[in-house]
This record gives sequence, structure tokens and C-alpha cells, in this order.
Amino acid sequence: MVKENLVKIASTVPEPTRLIAVSKTKPVEMLQEAYDAGQRLFGENKALEMRDKHAVLPKDIQWHFIGHLQTNKVKYIAPFVTLIHSIDSLQLLEVVNKEALKNNRVIDCLLQFHIASEETKFGLDMSEADALLSSPEYKAMTNVRLCGVMGMATNTDDMAKVRSEFANLRKIFEDLRQRYFEGQEHFSEISMGMSHDYQIAIEEGATLVRVGSSIFGARNYNI
Ligand SMILES: *Cc1c(COP(=O)(O)O)cnc(C)c1O
Repeated sequence: MVKENLVKIASTVPEPTRLIAVSKTKPVEMLQEAYDAGQRLFGENKALEMRDKHAVLPKDIQWHFIGHLQTNKVKYIAPFVTLIHSIDSLQLLEVVNKEALKNNRVIDCLLQFHIASEETKFGLDMSEADALLSSPEYKAMTNVRLCGVMGMATNTDDMAKVRSEFANLRKIFEDLRQRYFEGQEHFSEISMGMSHDYQIAIEEGATLVRVGSSIFGARNYNI
């Protein structure tokens, strides 16, 4: 079932957009099934769960961290994580930089923006992002590389609203690129779109879509 779902979803994600299979809460057997069908990008939102899955699955998997990341958990994923989508404070970025240094690597990250109307979603607003990007602490970091932005739309059936939130994230991306990342090719990623709205996200310029339940089935708990 995983294989069939994956093949179907992948066929609806045109290049250059890339599909992240969001495998949180799912057993490694299901990830292996997706891997065997050719999937290499996986998304998880718990550091220890990602660490444990990384330990037993093929080493050419690219691990994307997509959930709220506590500073005391960064150390578990710093040795191998491909991209952290959820940077929402200077303090978190400082810890990622420190752990990356310990592992002698540069960790790619995205700034997570609060684009939904719900209160509960994490993320920066533009003034917070400006403060982070202008800070001497950020400018001194040697072992993190900001590659773009991430956001989650409001959980609603109102697709016009979802579309306008994605369009807003794209505007944020273009604005930051112009003001802070001129000529830096690596600042290129817009991570947006989940199972129910990824096609709209692609139309609005997503370079990474994060699809879970449409591939692996519904999760037992809502996170
Ligand atoms: C769980 C999750 C997804 C995937 O959600 P689905 O609706 O299962 O596709 C995408 N992004 C984030 C940040 C998530 O936590």
C-alpha cells in the first residue's frame, strides 16, 4: 500500500519540486517499503525517533527535521540531519551551530514562518526574522547555512485562504532573498504543503512538499 500511494503521489510532484515522505509515528518497516520504492527524503518531527530510525535504515536517506525542535534535543540529530525546517529562534540556531561545529559539519536550515491564522503554530514573523538575520550572533555563525523558508497553512477547507498563505510565504522568501541573500544560490528552498494542500503549494512555488498521511495512512494521534 505504501508503495502504491508513494508512486501515485510522486507522479503528481513535478520537478524541480521534491517530495518529502513524512514518516513520523510510522514503523521502520513502512519507511523501508518507501525506500525500496525509490524514496530517499524522509521527514520526522521528533529528534529521538529520527535518531533511532536513522540508526537502522539505509545510510543514503536524507533526513528532514520538520517539527518544533527543543534546544536540548539538537545533539541527537546534528551528526546526520540533512535539513532542519523549523528554525524559529536565534537561540535554536545558535545551538544548531554549536552542535554542527562539534560534528565538524555545516547544517542546512530553513526559517519557519508563522503564516497561518491559528495561534498554535510555531514560527517567526518578519520583524523577528529581521532581528535574527541582523544580529551579530547570527553573522558570527560558521556552521549553519540558511537555505530558505518553511511554513504551515491554516488547517481549513478554505483553499483560497490556504493559497493566499502560501503566496505570502513565497513573498517572504523573495523579500529575504533580496535583502539578505543576494547572489547566494543556496537560499532557494520554500518548504510548504502537506497531504491535503500540497498541490496548491506547488502551484504557489513550493520546492519541497511534506506529505505524510497520503503515503503512510492516517496517524494514530494528531500531531
Ligand atoms: C505531520 C506533518 C506533515 C505531514 O502532514 P500530512 O497531513 O500527514 O501530510 C507536514 N509538515 C509538518 C510540519 C508536519 O508536522
